[in-house]
Amino acid sequence: MNKLESLNFKNRFASLPEIFHSQVIPTPLSRPYLVSFNPDVAALLDLHVDEAGRADFAAYFTGNRLLPGSVPVSMLYAGHQFGRFVQQLGDGRAILLGEIENSDGESWGLQLKGAGVTPYSRSGDGRAVLRSSIREYLCSAAMHGLGIPTTRALCIVGSDEEVYRESIETAAIVTRVAESFVRFGSFEVFYYRGQHQQVAELADFLILHHYPHLQQMEDRYSCLLREITVRTARLIAQWQAVGFAHGVMNTDNMSVLGETLDYGPFGFMEAYDPSFICNHSDHGGRYAYDQQPYIGQWNLSALAQAMSPIVPQQEAGDIIASYGDIFAEHYVQLMCAKLGVKFRGLEDFSLIGPLLEMMRESRVDYTNFFRGLGNFKSADGEINAMLRDQFINREAFDAWSVNYSARLREDGLSDVQRKSGMDKVSPKFILRNYLAQVAIEKVEKHRDFSEIDRLLSLLRSPFDEHPEFAGYTIPAPAWARNLEVSCSS
Ligand code: AMP
Ligand code: MG
Repeated sequence: MNKLESLNFKNRFASLPEIFHSQVIPTPLSRPYLVSFNPDVAALLDLHVDEAGRADFAAYFTGNRLLPGSVPVSMLYAGHQFGRFVQQLGDGRAILLGEIENSDGESWGLQLKGAGVTPYSRSGDGRAVLRSSIREYLCSAAMHGLGIPTTRALCIVGSDEEVYRESIETAAIVTRVAESFVRFGSFEVFYYRGQHQQVAELADFLILHHYPHLQQMEDRYSCLLREITVRTARLIAQWQAVGFAHGVMNTDNMSVLGETLDYGPFGFMEAYDPSFICNHSDHGGRYAYDQQPYIGQWNLSALAQAMSPIVPQQEAGDIIASYGDIFAEHYVQLMCAKLGVKFRGLEDFSLIGPLLEMMRESRVDYTNFFRGLGNFKSADGEINAMLRDQFINREAFDAWSVNYSARLREDGLSDVQRKSGMDKVSPKFILRNYLAQVAIEKVEKHRDFSEIDRLLSLLRSPFDEHPEFAGYTIPAPAWARNLEVSCSS
């Protein structure tokens, strides 16, 4: 187990040529205090949990004091934002401290988000607010608990320093941990500048460190694009199956490892609504829940364009065209698991589609319904009133139930066996917006961090029953229905 001073820094990304990044020193943050610390993430770094109790812990995770061995850089990238290409973005407020190699030989990048201005800040202040830092911290833990690929978060450090957004808020820094923070936009920046040599260099870097099995392949760049495509399709299928909307699927927020990256105005759907828009600034609904699968493909096409100097056009076209089938198959598989039926093929959507349509019509709580479906009794003549009563059109539910029961009986599992499988794929708990908001307000108003830690302990195992958290399954109360989250954070 490591102390803060003995983390095994390797600084891989910083060792790429200067054109890929800028060396920066974090801007000191006054009177920092530790808000929360995630021991599961510390374990990835072999970091001893007692280190979080040190008086200087917060100084290290603001960058006020530099961790020994770290060579901090901000990463350059571009991106398509709401469909429009922006030539230069880059980490405007994030600073990569470097990658740490753990005792299992894994390499984890450590990044301070909100650590001050960088050469890529444009007109921004380089800071992040406490509210959005808490949301990112909790959601990355929630996604990991749900088994969805995501960047992780080690800790949040707060400060009294004021930050001006729509109102005055206080600054905070969340320390993110991921094997890589490289984005689709990291390729785009070089492609559009005509620096094709760097497109190849970045691909080589990713293959060396993250896709080493591709190294010996003659068509390794095509294989890289194919693997990113598969991972992205599967990631978005997982988002759809759990009812998650990212909110800002710009290409600069898309990970080349197929992980959920850059939490901003994300939202877990409560009442099922395919047109759900979690980002208050997304007036056109470009990133609405039901658009995410298409946007995934749109973004991959942008990546393929950026990789066109190294991936032949025909191959790129075939890879991008394969996305739809990969997504659909994975999504239907996940939804079959939520229904507790054995996956047979895409035709199983005929069981899922009508159910979703009824759920939309009746605005049924997505998470609670699928969790409750585990209690469905498949015997002839069962009414399943607890489920049925959630629908406006009960006859439609009855008709669907007849098909569903028949299918369950064909599959041949007992109701008890089926429920135990379903409970492993349909969570009891998600990070409802209002749950995060309660935790945020406790910190903002009373400097009470306890609710964050409670949520963290719950969300790491969202499939367990946790009877002491029964209230946390309740859909948003009236005060929280109009909570708005936007890009400005
Ligand atoms: P985001 O919407 O957070 O993914 O950010 C989009 C771009 O704006 C990225 O290049 C960020 O680095 C930059 N950015 C966002 N917020 C700030 C900020 N407060 N200060 C400087 N740059 C920012
Ligand atoms: Mg971003």
